[in-house]
Amino acid sequence: MFSAMPDQAVSLRGLRKTFGSVEAVAGVDLDVADGEFFAMLGPSGSGKTTVLRMIAGFESPTEGVVELAGRDVTRLAPFERDVNTVFQDYALFPHMTVLQNVEYGLRVKRVAKAERRERAHDALRSVRLDGFDARRPAQLSGGQRQRVALARALVNRPRVLLLDEPLGALDLKLREEMQVELKAIQREVGITFLFVTHDQEEALTMSDRVAVFNHGRIEQVGTPAEIYERPATSFVAGFVGTSNLISGYAAPAVLGKEGTFSVRPEKLRVVLGDGEGAGPDEHEAAGTVSEVVYAGPATRFVVDLDAGGRLIALQQNLQVSSMDVLGLRGSRVRLVWHRRHEFAIADAPAPGIPREAAHS
Ligand code: ATP
Repeated sequence: MFSAMPDQAVSLRGLRKTFGSVEAVAGVDLDVADGEFFAMLGPSGSGKTTVLRMIAGFESPTEGVVELAGRDVTRLAPFERDVNTVFQDYALFPHMTVLQNVEYGLRVKRVAKAERRERAHDALRSVRLDGFDARRPAQLSGGQRQRVALARALVNRPRVLLLDEPLGALDLKLREEMQVELKAIQREVGITFLFVTHDQEEALTMSDRVAVFNHGRIEQVGTPAEIYERPATSFVAGFVGTSNLISGYAAPAVLGKEGTFSVRPEKLRVVLGDGEGAGPDEHEAAGTVSEVVYAGPATRFVVDLDAGGRLIALQQNLQVSSMDVLGLRGSRVRLVWHRRHEFAIADAPAPGIPREAAHS
């Protein structure tokens, strides 16, 4: 079997896991490079937590191989693997102080006291919690508890840190702050972070690369920009942002080619009346506005295309006052976009029906 390059922190080969008749993981291949901040993103039940647990060693694969730094660890116990896991509920010891919680792993490994102290203080400093040594978990905020859990994992200096919905227990504002913080901490310590989330914004904000899971499989791996701007499948297009598909079969006159393509709503320009249409390298499709929603900084149009199908356009600079926007329902418009914002979708879903619009 192909063996991972040494600069891969994690390599998964043909990973499968069944629970009775449920196929939780249905064949996953993945390489995560040393030092990457990597997200496994997908809806509930798509198998990402099971993959994380197989990397940690809490679950053994039905089939396939887990390699850490090029070494096959598939049959090794969790403590024999160079990984640490931060759980969503943090699992801190309530009767211990912050310092004792962070030192705990080193005490178990019988690291001498002086070194233990130094490493624990280093870890607390890296999560910006110096001065909190003597507190107990109950005396900390949610975000601070999260950092203690992080420090407790970092103190072991693992090669890979696994994080299961690390910000899931925090409220929205704190979560947004911690997204930035977590990214900064990861950059400083230089350890590979592999985290599980069902929150697309979180995955796009924090990660170097993202794997999008669906039904126990990976549909696409790429940088946040690649995933967002060039979704490879209709599932990715719909799960990450708003799916906006235009079918070449339905609209050959517009696209001049066959196939199904995705265009993000903010890449579409809404042209009213006899405004300027498509320039060179642009495409244009005429249609009728079926819905307009004024949404603060941007206005959202749902347009039924003459050529068939429906697109959503998000417009920031409309030359119409916000008062008049709602009156545009039923108007004739043209949608214009640059060809470089149009990406082929591998699987062929129903033509031109954006997911959100189809539900509305
Ligand atoms: P979530 O975000 O809700 O945790 P997930 O994408 O992480 O979802 P998994 O937790 O990996 O998904 O679960 C994948 C599938 O495997 C689900 O159908 C789940 O019910 C099933 N499953 C997971 N663990 C077990 C188990 N120990 N026994 C039986 N079925 C399980």
